[in-house]
Amino acid sequence: MHRLEFINTGLAILGLSFYQQSKNMNTSPQLLVGKGKPKLVGKNYALLPEVDRAFQEMSTAAQKQGLNIKVVSSYRSYDRQKSIWNRKFLHFKSKGLTDEQTIKKIIEYSTLPGTSRHHWGTDLDIIDAKPPEEGDVLLPHKFHNNGPYNTLREWMETHAQDYGFFLPYNRDENRSGFKYEPWHYSFAPKSIPMLRQYLELDHAKLLLVPDLNGAECLGQEFLNSYIESHIMGVDPSLL
Ligand SMILES: [Zn+2]
Repeated sequence: MHRLEFINTGLAILGLSFYQQSKNMNTSPQLLVGKGKPKLVGKNYALLPEVDRAFQEMSTAAQKQGLNIKVVSSYRSYDRQKSIWNRKFLHFKSKGLTDEQTIKKIIEYSTLPGTSRHHWGTDLDIIDAKPPEEGDVLLPHKFHNNGPYNTLREWMETHAQDYGFFLPYNRDENRSGFKYEPWHYSFAPKSIPMLRQYLELDHAKLLLVPDLNGAECLGQEFLNSYIESHIMGVDPSLL
């Protein structure tokens, strides 16, 4: 075979197999909303096996630069997200906010149960384990200037992409949805096809359930605008 022809055939096979892989990669609707039992691995965290392999490779590289990446949040179930939601709802309500104001406040940083990228086993929140932990660790200012995680952020901004990890909630002020989260990374080769499947779901049926605090305010209209602004409001490299 002519060399060029050989290369083209090779590329065609690669392209085809990738297409088939992503087409065949069907995650059930239940798993996409954090219900059911996904296959997860990790000692002090839980990620899909493929995500964990890439994460460990990245951690090893970071370690050579003196960084000790610690996962503070990885897979999170629907029930866990529901308890976070309900707790925050009561907290903001106790400050005198209306139901609508409360929901608006919660979704600055937290998701409606069933809509978290943490449900997929592809996303994780990280810090550097070396500096002593004081109070809340996931605060943007701790990742900048003289903050304890500034070096980690800088290293990740340069190298994370080489391992497939991207920041969904980047610093772009024109981005809609959740606020800037310098600690939250997503493994693109897995999370992109999952997001595509996620967008095809019957969201109202899966997400608008009566046992959520504030459920009366969570109608189809809210859901449509939330999906547009919050689920789609991620770094373009993850769409
Ligand atoms: Zn996160």
